[in-house]
Amino acid sequence: MALIVHKYGGTSMGSTERIRNVAKRVAKWARAGHQMVVVPSAMSGETNRLLALAKELAPARTDDAYGRELDMLAATGEQASSALLAIALQAEGLASVSYAGWQVPIRTDSAYTKARIESIDDTKVRADLQAGRVVIVTGFQGLDEHGNITTLGRGGSDTSAVAVAAAMKADECLIYTDVDGVYTTDPRIVPEARRLTTVSFEEMLEMASMGSKVLQIRSVEFAGKYKVKLRVLSSFTPWDININEEATSGTLITFEEDEHMEQAIVSGIAFSREEAKISVLGVPDKPGIAYQIVGAVADANIEVDVIIQNISKEGKTDFSFTVNRAEYAKTVSLLKDKVLPGLGATEVVGDTKICKVSIVGIGMRSHVGVASKMFRVLSEEGINIQMISTSEIKTSVVIDEKYMELAVRALHKAFELEQAPA
Ligand code: ASP
Ligand code: MG
Repeated sequence: MALIVHKYGGTSMGSTERIRNVAKRVAKWARAGHQMVVVPSAMSGETNRLLALAKELAPARTDDAYGRELDMLAATGEQASSALLAIALQAEGLASVSYAGWQVPIRTDSAYTKARIESIDDTKVRADLQAGRVVIVTGFQGLDEHGNITTLGRGGSDTSAVAVAAAMKADECLIYTDVDGVYTTDPRIVPEARRLTTVSFEEMLEMASMGSKVLQIRSVEFAGKYKVKLRVLSSFTPWDININEEATSGTLITFEEDEHMEQAIVSGIAFSREEAKISVLGVPDKPGIAYQIVGAVADANIEVDVIIQNISKEGKTDFSFTVNRAEYAKTVSLLKDKVLPGLGATEVVGDTKICKVSIVGIGMRSHVGVASKMFRVLSEEGINIQMISTSEIKTSVVIDEKYMELAVRALHKAFELEQAPA
């Protein structure tokens, strides 16, 4: 008997019919003798619907009081789907109970709309499991120290599931979703993209941080920190598929380079359209400048990604970085109002029509020339590289958004990702 956490995404929970299917699948696992904790997302479209209502009433608000109410609002989506799943499980003849984040409780910090989980008290859930119940815990939400409901950021149910699995030392966390695993790149852009049977945790982290929507990045961070055995698999297989077949399908996130792992130099091509570039021009080239710029941005809770500082001319330099596109306007006005005056810089300019494309692979650690091959492929396609950033296991470039698909296709082909590594 194992303790298993299942997570079902919004599409999988999208109608009562689908919820019934989820219930049948979970019932199959419970009847096979496993203790089951299930973490559902809201029914598909529900979170968007709720947030759009708030936006109708307050189109431009970003303050904390508003964030609090957004979380209060959005958290209802998961509360509804969780209760419906409990009802469907009961209809299957299984004892089942659902809990909202605050009832568990799942404790978070107070960063509304992007809160981080701090601790999970598993006493109640454990007692229910002992009593033979399937326990449903709402995804996406928690409770801060002042008793406010918080949410974990879009896609946050993945993180809830992995955090619950970590807190309970579950044997495995299975993320059921509308794709059947992690691919070498998005099959909508490259039809030849291939499903990976395994992907290392570090590669998954890079892919998740760069636009792959398969898993929310924080869920991958959690899995890495607590060594949660994590698998991404399809919720669209028939619910009565053989349980062993199901349990080995999809993509397993691995932690060690073992011999079973596919040995590719590049494992995947990630991309993100959600980037924007900001340049501060004419910055005096002296110590403390990067800190003043990036520090002010970070203090506003905005994540800075690729950074470059140009060579200086006559003691002045240009400093560029990327942020999430949704934070672009906020970052520019912050720089203009708060940073430029003290800095003696001349201007802030920006570009939202950019994207980031990355090649990712732990094999890059032991191979030279991988980045240069990437640059060659892009140059052969006539694509201009605006910024570059590298780590041990990835190389990212910022390019014009209009070349994104071309770049992804060309790189996928050049690194022969459509073929399984020998
Ligand atoms: N319902 C939330 C969202 O749409 C959380 C999730 O689905 O993971 O972002
Ligand atoms: Mg998701």
